[in-house]
Amino acid sequence: MPDHKEVVIIGSGPAGLTAGIYTARASLSPLVIEGEPSSTSDQPGGQLMLTTEVENYPGFPSGIMGPELMSNFRSQAERFGASLLTKKVTKVNLLTTPFEIWIGDPSVAEPTFTASSVIVSTGAKALMLDLPNEIELVGHGISTCATCDGFFFRDQEIAVVGGGDSAVEEAIFLSRFASKVTIIHRRDQLRASKIMQDRAFSNPKIEFLWNHEVTEYVGDTKLESVTVRNLIHNSQSNLQISGLFIAIGHTPNTSIFEDQLSLHENGYIKTESDSSRTNIDGVFACGDVQDFTYRQAITAAGSGCMAAIDAERWLEEQHAE
Ligand code: NAP
Repeated sequence: MPDHKEVVIIGSGPAGLTAGIYTARASLSPLVIEGEPSSTSDQPGGQLMLTTEVENYPGFPSGIMGPELMSNFRSQAERFGASLLTKKVTKVNLLTTPFEIWIGDPSVAEPTFTASSVIVSTGAKALMLDLPNEIELVGHGISTCATCDGFFFRDQEIAVVGGGDSAVEEAIFLSRFASKVTIIHRRDQLRASKIMQDRAFSNPKIEFLWNHEVTEYVGDTKLESVTVRNLIHNSQSNLQISGLFIAIGHTPNTSIFEDQLSLHENGYIKTESDSSRTNIDGVFACGDVQDFTYRQAITAAGSGCMAAIDAERWLEEQHAE
């Protein structure tokens, strides 16, 4: 028999664990299925597990390390009675009630858990260049978040990879701190909106390296420079930078929900405005899996709190009927 839970939370970044704290405090004994350790950002604790110091999370005036912050979230959820399971959900059936959730082999007929309500907080992962030593250097020169890490590169020469709005926005933001920001783009035209392009072109600290791609990270424990390849002449050169921001897009972790939850065209889960409700009654979504605008730990945590309150009220309504 599958184990039945009132609330199952899938994902354990700031959104999922905040939902865990709130639903636990509401005596709903939530189960947080936190994922399994991997080398990418869809792992327990989410993207903060791949950062070093977090200086913009309110309440920590001297900053806190990303993994330590997530460990605190975790202990706080457990303290109030949330159970954490370090496994990956392989399949869900949200088209039946109670909802069904599988861990391990998805071809097994019987689900591992059934749930009265489900909170989806599986996050998103930043697309990476997939070069050797990349994950090891994240937080040591390589970053996917200018808002989080820009401050550490004051008066240094850094670069941004990409040619979309994110890359240009990050480069403009980073130019407040860095002495020079080079945008490395694989074509000779930006994809970013015209207004963002104009801002970048008129920014004296921003330079462009057109028709180039990064082929190698130089530095074992800290980024020292990158090797870049000119895609027209097929020649290699070295770019001396202490920081590289990868801004080539994000992808939400929604593959197991694709045919069941309504998604935006870009794959993120649709939620009703000012709410965490999805198209399925009793299923709520929070954090980066439904947010392609703010993508901050604090906004994810805030939306995790919303999802917990929405789930609690929804369960109350069901029990009252
Ligand atoms: P995006 O628009 O998909 O742009 C990704 C960029 O990265 C493209 O320039 C692409 O090159 C490049 N790229 C992709 N894969 C690469 C690889 N493996 N190696 C090197 N370069 C690679 O993504 P985004 O900039 O994150 O924006 C996503 C959406 O959010 C867009 O709709 C955007 O308008 C929106 N957004 C808006 C704002 C704003 O309005 N302030 C800010 C951020 C994002 P190609 O151009 O050659 O394909």
